[in-house]
Amino acid sequence: MLLEVEDVHVHYGKIAAIRGLSIEVGAGEIVTLIGANGAGKTTTLKTISGLRPLSRGRIRFDGRDISRMPGHKRVLAGIGQSPEGRGVFPGMTVADNLAMGAYARRGDGSKELAEVYELFPRLAERKGQMGGTMSGGEQQMLAIGRALMARPKVLLLDEPSMGLAPMLVQQIFSIIEEINRRGTTVLLVEQNAAQALQIAHRAYVLETGRIVKSAPAADLLDDPQVRAAYLGGG
Ligand code: ATP
Repeated sequence: MLLEVEDVHVHYGKIAAIRGLSIEVGAGEIVTLIGANGAGKTTTLKTISGLRPLSRGRIRFDGRDISRMPGHKRVLAGIGQSPEGRGVFPGMTVADNLAMGAYARRGDGSKELAEVYELFPRLAERKGQMGGTMSGGEQQMLAIGRALMARPKVLLLDEPSMGLAPMLVQQIFSIIEEINRRGTTVLLVEQNAAQALQIAHRAYVLETGRIVKSAPAADLLDDPQVRAAYLGGG
């Protein structure tokens, strides 16, 4: 397994947001984590990328225990994150935002930049535009592009479809599939469970900080409980 999260607990003060969570992500997979608001999806990603400390448990990545490794070292180790809320630098151009993503890499990043522009032609068209003036969908693309500049082994995506028009939602999901086809493992958190399950290989269902179900994504699409709770009934 590329990524193994074992019996992890995470607290905000006294409140336990994650309570004994275990997930595994194999190299080459798209794995999705679905769950209601407040289930702990964002917290899980933040804990993997090192933005939140864990109070118990263990995270192994690429053969190493990274449970206590600082976030910037996890980037170097190959964990890329495109955070919820995007985190684009508003006063910097698109090109400079992307360059920031390459800081962790040796080399000039030109190959990575060419690939990002190929995946997201819109970013190439707008390379001189300020990040803050890009539309919501464009900023989402920019945040994913920036994470890709570090050539991560695993890309953690938090709600990439949030706030996007339906056409852009389709586009973002096909780009995620393409990123995966090109060799990047993906751990995807989504409210849009139906779309996420359509592109994922495997899925976990998270409820109040614990995994309650784990299965091939296609099976969950047909699971009556999952359909009722997360796919708008039917
Ligand atoms: P959503 O889909 O609404 O973004 P989520 O599944 O990503 O939800 P988290 O954001 O991980 O959920 O939150 C998990 C729990 O931790 C929630 O009960 C939330 O209120 C709590 N929580 C998250 N961030 C903080 C914080 N900074 N301080 C206190 N509690 C927090």
